[in-house]
Amino acid sequence: MPELPEVEVTRRGVAPHLDGRQVTSVVLRHTGLRWPFPSDLPALLRGRRILSTGRRGKYLLIGFEHGTLIVHLGMSGHLRILPADTPAQKHDHFDLVIGPQVMRLTDPRRFGAVLWHDREDGDLEEHILLRSLGVEPLLDGFNGQLLYRLTRHRSAPIKQVLLAGDIVVGVGNIYASESLFRAGINPKTAAHRIGPARYGKLAEAIRETLTAAIAKGGSTLRDFMAADGQPGYFQQSYFVYDRAGEDCRTCGSLVRQLKQGQRSTFYCPNCQK
Ligand code: ZN
Repeated sequence: MPELPEVEVTRRGVAPHLDGRQVTSVVLRHTGLRWPFPSDLPALLRGRRILSTGRRGKYLLIGFEHGTLIVHLGMSGHLRILPADTPAQKHDHFDLVIGPQVMRLTDPRRFGAVLWHDREDGDLEEHILLRSLGVEPLLDGFNGQLLYRLTRHRSAPIKQVLLAGDIVVGVGNIYASESLFRAGINPKTAAHRIGPARYGKLAEAIRETLTAAIAKGGSTLRDFMAADGQPGYFQQSYFVYDRAGEDCRTCGSLVRQLKQGQRSTFYCPNCQK
C-alpha cells in the first residue's frame, strides 16, 4: 500500500508536469474506483489551468482556481506521466491530458479515489475526507509537545494511536514500528503514560524515518516517466519491520512480532521499554 513517503515522492514526480499547465481533456475509463468518478469532471477541467500540486496525508491535491482535484492511490494505485498517445492498459482508469503528456492513474484493486471539491462548497480543509486528519509530521507544528498534549486521554497502545491518523498523519504500519524503535518506546505502552521527553524523541524519530524514506524514493523519480515502469515500494533496510526472529541491529537481541488491531508490530524488547 502506498504510504506517505510514496505519495510525497509521487507528488514531487508529477508536480513539474502539472503546475502552470492547462488541462486538454479528461478521460474516464470506468465509472469510478472506491467511489464513483464525478461524471462532469471532463467538462469541469477542460481548458482549466493547474495552479498547484499539494498533499494532505495520503491525498494528492491538484489545485485549480475553481476547486481541487483530490486523488488517492488506495491499496495499489500509482500515477505516471506518459506521452499522451500511450495506449491504455487494463487497469488504467483515469487520464488527465495536459498537451503532449498525460497523467495516468493505474489502480488494479480500485480502492483509490478521484474526487472534485468545488471552491463554492467551502474550505478544502473541511472536506469530509480531510477534516479529521492529524497534523503533517514534516511540518513545523509537529513536535513532542503536541504529541504529549493530544494523548492525555488516550489509553490505547502508542502504536495504535499513531496508526489511527487523527493525531499525526502518515505514520503507517511500517513507519510506526520503525519510529518507535528509533525512539526506544515499547509499542504496547499506553499513549497517556508516555512523558513529554519521550514524545520529543518520538516526534524526532517519526520525522527522521519519513524523511529517510522520501530520500530513498527520490531515486525512483524517473520511473514516473517510464511507460513500462511501475514505481513500487522503496527498497529500504529496516531496523525491526519484517525482521521477527532476526538480531536487533543495535543490541543483538531477537526482534519480536505481535498483533495489534490485526496489524503486525515488530520491536526489540531490549531496546524498547
Ligand atoms: Zn535491541
